[in-house]
Amino acid sequence: MRREAVDKLTDQAVLADLAKNDAEYYVRWGAVKKITDQAVLTDVAENDKNCYVLLAVAEKLTDQTLAQKVYADLASNYVDDVRLRAAEKLTDQTLAQKVYAYLAKNSADDDVRLKAAGKLTDQTLAQKAYADLAKKAADDVRLEAAGKLTDQTLAQEIYAEVKKSASSSDARREAGEPGGYSPHRGGMGEPYCSAKCYNDGGRYASSVMLQGQSGVCGFCQKPVRASMYGEATCGAVPYEGMTLFVCTSCAQKARRHFMNYHKCCMCQKSL
Ligand SMILES: [Zn+2]
Ligand SMILES: [Zn+2]
Repeated sequence: MRREAVDKLTDQAVLADLAKNDAEYYVRWGAVKKITDQAVLTDVAENDKNCYVLLAVAEKLTDQTLAQKVYADLASNYVDDVRLRAAEKLTDQTLAQKVYAYLAKNSADDDVRLKAAGKLTDQTLAQKAYADLAKKAADDVRLEAAGKLTDQTLAQEIYAEVKKSASSSDARREAGEPGGYSPHRGGMGEPYCSAKCYNDGGRYASSVMLQGQSGVCGFCQKPVRASMYGEATCGAVPYEGMTLFVCTSCAQKARRHFMNYHKCCMCQKSL
């Protein structure tokens, strides 16, 4: 109930109360996005502990000193994709490059590694990260990383390997072996058992978008808001009897997940 209500609220006093006091971080995040009062935003920036709320509030602060302090804290701590997004906002380029170098080398999230490498001014480090990713990651990441390599011999080897593994999985699917094959797939790559379930799934997603529901991305926990019109920050998919939100940066991850998911997303029949 409350999760839908935040989107429709305009009363700044009510929004301020939610931003400061609500127990759910995605409700505080939604409220912060609609608040204009800098005193309230400053209060949240100084007291909230959730990285997504802090990232949203820093973007709205007119006090750039405080905003940069929040970004520096987020870039140094918290989860990798937040560190990356905060580093991109830093005016302190020395710190930003330090964060990129760390993430390009160490992040467990291959998409973050790839993006961080792209921000590095140190090309030796960047090429090392690309080479690592090109050798070992999901196929789409491997191809993207190979495309950035200056070492053309390695790049050509990677292209050949990925091509080989892709054609063997096509062959498995044609032979009817499990390989994530389903004739009916939705916009996030989610499988359905039949045209009927596919259509029902589409209708389900549209109704979530129309209601403008808020929630949390099922892959990265980032708060998101569904929307048919304005600022949509996610897609919605029926999943395990609930709604799975997928933020824009996790669309690729969702596709990879659904390639190995063998149930109809609508009726949960095994595929
Ligand atoms: Zn996400
Ligand atoms: Zn079904």
